[in-house]
Amino acid sequence: LASRLPNVGTTIFTVMSALATETGAVNLGQGFPDFNCDPALVDAVSTAMQAGLNQYPPMPGVPVLREAISKKIEALYGRHYDAGSEITVTAGATQAIITCILSTVHPGDEVIVLEPCYDSYVPNIELAGGVVVRVPLTPGTFRPDFDKIAAAITSKTRAIIVNTPHNPSATVWKREDMLQLQDLLAPTNVLLISDEVYEHMVFDGQPHESAARYPGLAARAFIVSSFGKTYHVTGWKVGFVAAPAALSAEFRKVHQFNVFTVNTPVQHALAAYMANPRPYLDLPAFYEHKRDLFRAGLANTRFKLLPSEGSYFQCVDISELAVPERSLPEGDFCQWLTREIGVAAIPLSAFYGNGFDQHVVRFCFAKKDETLVSALERLARL
Ligand code: PMP
Ligand code: GLN
Repeated sequence: LASRLPNVGTTIFTVMSALATETGAVNLGQGFPDFNCDPALVDAVSTAMQAGLNQYPPMPGVPVLREAISKKIEALYGRHYDAGSEITVTAGATQAIITCILSTVHPGDEVIVLEPCYDSYVPNIELAGGVVVRVPLTPGTFRPDFDKIAAAITSKTRAIIVNTPHNPSATVWKREDMLQLQDLLAPTNVLLISDEVYEHMVFDGQPHESAARYPGLAARAFIVSSFGKTYHVTGWKVGFVAAPAALSAEFRKVHQFNVFTVNTPVQHALAAYMANPRPYLDLPAFYEHKRDLFRAGLANTRFKLLPSEGSYFQCVDISELAVPERSLPEGDFCQWLTREIGVAAIPLSAFYGNGFDQHVVRFCFAKKDETLVSALERLARL
């Protein structure tokens, strides 16, 4: 069989989680919490199920959840999205992103990704028959290089995918970045796929710069988010897309034949739970504590800490470690770290098409404090 994705194997997240399980390592690789969500959220699902909310919901999602999402976006980012025509509930951000691409990218269209980037973007573009145009974020700082982005835009560019807070680098786009992107796209028809799954994890009092805040971006943007990240329920796979009505209409044409709808009782539970903004407003402080705990522990090692401005990731440079394995390719280093030191991490090279290796690996700190402490004890010898 001629593969549609000949270069794709098993994702690095699955590989490293399997290795962590096999070896009994502390799993700071794949990004997911090792603690439970708020029991009230579980109760809300049970309540919805017992109330008989167990059949197909409307295709774009249950109205109460779309209303709650609309209110939240307006309260936080000052833009109104019509719950009826501009918000669609998806099976996580993963389905949202592939559906954005399948509904807008024609064979031969170019789509710009900023590397390093999340692993689903490139195969999604390839499945649509699109041409992937890779623009590197600035090595070392991972900041966007607008000259390079400008140079990559052609008459064939259909879309650019931006992700802030950023997986894997944990950098956060600033207001100047968004304004520059807005100016750059102004004379074009380029669509923006704005992956904002970590929107509620921005640290040190910084704001999340949603594309929704910028009229020139919002008019061309699919804004994607994920309840899995916000409410510690990555296994529920529920997210949403907010986009102007014309874009949402095209999105829904594909969505209805892609998944048609997503889990009814979970949508009702999320709608009820969203009535209280505290859980997402408290999230920066919750994760800042974990970030600081983890960074303080690593400060006693020879890992060089990169900034972690948002998301639940911490990247470290391994090139100053006292062990000879510091010179291994990142992927081999992560295998060694998992097997011999007992802590799983993700190589940054997995987020580049050409496997670019800069001796940096990513840890996830969405873990119980005791898990982080146990990982730090193991890492202390490095
Ligand atoms: N985008 C980014 C940047 C992510 O980190 C993730 C989660 N790994 C996703 C999209 C997918 O989110 P979900 O689990 O809701 O499908
Ligand atoms: N988003 C998570 C990460 O970056 C993992 C999601 C997945 O396993 N596909 O680690």
